Amino acid sequence: MSREARLRRARELCAEANLGALLVPPSPDLVYLTGYDPPALERATLLVVRTGADAVLVVPELERPLAEASSAAGLVDIVSWTDEMDPYAALVELAPGSGTVAVGDRLWASHLLALSRLVPGVTFVPSSRALPLLRAIKEPEELARLSAAARGADAALEDVVSGPFLGTREADVAAALAASLLAHGHESVAFTIVGSAQGAASPHHAPGERRIRDGDAVVMDFGGRVGGYCSDITRTVVAGEADRELARIHEIVLRAQEAGVRAVRPGAAASEVDRACREVIAESGYAERFVHRTGHGIGLEEHEPPWISAGNDEPLRSGMTFSVEPGIYLPGRFGVRIEDIVAVTDDGVQRLNEAPRVLRSVN
Ligand code: ZN
Ligand code: ZN
Ligand code: ZN
Repeated sequence: MSREARLRRARELCAEANLGALLVPPSPDLVYLTGYDPPALERATLLVVRTGADAVLVVPELERPLAEASSAAGLVDIVSWTDEMDPYAALVELAPGSGTVAVGDRLWASHLLALSRLVPGVTFVPSSRALPLLRAIKEPEELARLSAAARGADAALEDVVSGPFLGTREADVAAALAASLLAHGHESVAFTIVGSAQGAASPHHAPGERRIRDGDAVVMDFGGRVGGYCSDITRTVVAGEADRELARIHEIVLRAQEAGVRAVRPGAAASEVDRACREVIAESGYAERFVHRTGHGIGLEEHEPPWISAGNDEPLRSGMTFSVEPGIYLPGRFGVRIEDIVAVTDDGVQRLNEAPRVLRSVN
């Protein structure tokens, strides 16, 4: 879809959601709609998408050259404000004075507070809540980039499982993952979680100085960007030999992940995917130890709608991409998580990650 078409669609979604306007700060939404990616600073930059009129990009005067050199220039009118002016006064003229206005989740609180003082009659709502479908249904070009990112992450994992692990610090494995992502087509690395033993029980563990020992579960959850689109994969391996408990828990998580992926099809509720994973884990007695939602959408952001959680009954649609990542975490001991990115197809699901999911022994 061209950017013109995306802007048109944003306007249609605003109308359907009864929104007077959508205010888009520097963010993935702004990149998606206009291709403009300025710094998100204290001076207000906002794209105003209105239902009844053309979109306008409001920028600080000193960033006008940046905006005019960007792909936004041919798409929307550019209005600038100087440091002597009140930027919010300019914005208030463009946006409605009553009703509901959606604001990008990443709009600075200082900007939103200033705006809401000027237009007390407007109810502001977060755009991720008001317009969850804005970026959720991927176009073929976006799917191709997400696939390329997933393939690069798979390849990085294959590099790193060859070792070394035993006696190596978590931080060293994380550094190896980062280097491998870059070697496999990623333009940047977003995060590299490596948690061993009790560190594996903390889903967002920060890799540290701990050296990996024989029998440790090692959770590796990492990703970066290819062509602006994110990768995100998790595999759990064992250093040396797995004991029976680790092997059993890994097998439960693997079955849960497969059940979750099988539940993905157009028309199914997002919550059904969560339930499919959770049921397998609950039947095995670990319901309380699966401490997070099953997954999140992925695209220009690592975490974006749709949320694959118990509370989200929105139907899945062809072209949506998200993670399926159940886990079991035993605090103070170890944890297991398995994560793939999947795409909803016209008649089911396609996994974008294909790295082996069985419990592999590493050295
Ligand atoms: Zn996470
Ligand atoms: Zn992840
Ligand atoms: Zn994830």
